[in-house]
Formats: sequence, C-alpha cells, structure tokens
Amino acid sequence: MTPFILPASRLNALVALLHSDGLAVHGPVVRDGVVAIAPLPDASALPHGWTVRQEPGTWRLERRDDAAVFGFTHGAESWKKLLHPARVRLWSAERTEDGFTVTEAPDPPAPYALFGVRACDLRAMAAQDKVLGHGPYVDGVYAGRRAGAVVIAADCAEPAGTCFCASMGSGPAATDGYDIALTELDAGDPAAHRFVLRTGTDTGRALAARLELAEATPADLAAVADIEAGARAHMGRKLDRVAARALLATHRESPHWDNVAERCLTCANCTMVCPTCFCTTIEDTSDLSGDHAERWRQWESCFTFVFSHVVGGPAREARGARYRHWISHKLSTWHEQFGDDGCVGCGRCISWCPVGIDITAEIAALEQASPSPGGAR
Ligand code: SF4
Ligand code: SF4
Repeated sequence: MTPFILPASRLNALVALLHSDGLAVHGPVVRDGVVAIAPLPDASALPHGWTVRQEPGTWRLERRDDAAVFGFTHGAESWKKLLHPARVRLWSAERTEDGFTVTEAPDPPAPYALFGVRACDLRAMAAQDKVLGHGPYVDGVYAGRRAGAVVIAADCAEPAGTCFCASMGSGPAATDGYDIALTELDAGDPAAHRFVLRTGTDTGRALAARLELAEATPADLAAVADIEAGARAHMGRKLDRVAARALLATHRESPHWDNVAERCLTCANCTMVCPTCFCTTIEDTSDLSGDHAERWRQWESCFTFVFSHVVGGPAREARGARYRHWISHKLSTWHEQFGDDGCVGCGRCISWCPVGIDITAEIAALEQASPSPGGAR
C-alpha cells in the first residue's frame, strides 16, 4: 500500500482519532527536565523543538533550532512502564467470619494507544510479548494491558551517541510491530513540515482511511530512504552481536569481570531502564490487625543480592558475576531461552549507568581479555 502524507498541522487529527476510539493515548512529553511517557491529551504535548544528547552516564535535554516533533531520542522510560508496570497489586484479602474474601487485581485500563514508539522499542515490545504474552506461562497483567493496544511508531532521524539499534537489527526505521509508522520530513520549513505515514495492520489502514490523506510521492519516499540512511550512518555505537554471543560463551571466566567489578556499583539502573528486562519479585504485606493482606509484584534486578538468594547465600555474590550474568543474558543466553537477542540496542543502560559502563565497550574489552580462569565467581 502506498504511504500517505500527513501534514504536520494535522498531526493532532491522528491523536484525536485515537481518543475518539476510546483509547488511553500515551506518548512522550517533556516533564521535569526529561522525556517521560505520559497521557497525551493532544499533539501539542509532544516534545516539539527538543533534542536529547546522550553519552555514557549522560542524558541532557537541549533545544533544537527547528520545530521537529520527533527530533529527540528516548528517555529512561520505555513502554514497559505501561505494559509491565514497576509495581502492581495482584490481590488483596479481607478476613471474614468464614475465612477470607480475596479480591483479584483490578481490571486492565482501557486499551492503550502508544504514540511515538521508536523502532528499538517496537522490538523490545516484541521481546516482552514473547516472554510475558505468549507460550505456556502467559502473564495476565501484561496480556491484559497489551490487548488491543494501537501502536503509532516514529522513525529515528538522529540517533543518540549511545544508540546501536542498527547493529542489533532493530532500527532505526520501524519495520514491523506497528499499526501506523511516521517519518518526519522538513521540520525546518513550516510550509513543508509533514510526515510520511505508512500502515502495518488493518487497524492502521482504517485509521489512515478516516484521515483522508494524499498519497506520498516518489520524492517523499526518496526522502524517507535518505533519513534512514543518514540515521544508520550516524549511529552512536556499534556491536557485532554474532561475535558477542560467541565471546560471552567462551569467556565465562576472565580477569575482565574483576575489572568491571571495580567500576560497577550494582545499583541496578541498567535493568530498570532496559525495555526488555522482565524480572519481578513478590511482596506480601498485612496490616497490624491481621485482617487485611495484599500481594504486590514489583520489578527486581539480577544485580541485587536477594535476586539469586538460595540456601547459603546469593548464587552470584561477586559484583563481576552479576554483571557477567546480565550481559550474558542480554547478548547470549537469551537465544537459548527465546531464540533471539535480549538487547535491542536502545543504549538506555549506557546513558543511565551512573559510572558510564557501556555494554558495547565491555564487549570490545572482553575481546582483548583472555578467557582464562579468574574473575567473577
Ligand atoms: S552496570 Fe552501571 S547501571 Fe548497571 S548495576 Fe553496574 S553501575 Fe549500575
Ligand atoms: S541491554 Fe541496554 S542497550 Fe540493550 S536493550 Fe537493554 S537497555 Fe537497551
């Protein structure tokens, strides 16, 4: 199907359609100095005229000299904030004369419209779909929140210094997993500012039909191809994912893990911001009377002691062992579990690591280290 042209002045018509369909529209907004994912009342709430500078341990919001709507890269939050919440109550119970009355988790919210999803995050959602939404152990909380979600993707034109989605085969342009994908053109010219809109599903095609848009021209499509090529050329980082997978398998023991341990604070930031990390723990609480109890689920991290605690203590006591476990899962053992990489190259773990530990640099350093005994027990 030929893509369409959505003038920038009509972007809000798309947001309004999603609202009129009863969807809970969420998108990126500038709030408290960062790009957050929040309810999106209309298109004016999007981060018009902002960009983001990202380096290891650095994330800074800066003004652009044009009116680009999607001229920024992602913040710490990903869409798992909505689909796989950081903390959720699974049930509560009240003591009664006959025992207990149990109230299950509240119903999921209205179906979401996720507006402005980047290609790396589309792939991350596909990874979480596989882990939490399909197979023999479907997570009811995730499945309920993912059901009926309408996805509006936005291609990246200017990757951050920490991005490496091209290396992971997940970006910079959206290829699947969206209902509608937008590529922004000519943000510096108010008269020409527009989006090339392509559709990926019947839902997307129905939305596009209601907007009654003109078809994109060959010149528009050539401009889209140039945007993608430019983004690939300016990708901040690279990683050879095939070599990394083999390297991690042969370097389970290496002095390099002790080197990482000297820097890593085991703060767990990298796992909290990662859009594919899915681990959780359970917390049961009761009030002092013993009449009311609740079960909560919250994100957990393989960097904490309790995560791998078994009789006798944590299975991975050394800091280097915890980093090795995390990076090995992302780039190597995820394949054995789920048949793909567990990393989509979004670079969040690099930007939000307080000491600037960089997953791509650690793989490069590991390549130089010997696979000899020592490190990370
Ligand atoms: S790698 Fe960085 S973000 Fe991750 S636990 Fe270590 S210090 Fe924290
Ligand atoms: S491991 Fe880092 S770069 Fe890869 S998906 Fe997670 S946060 Fe993004």
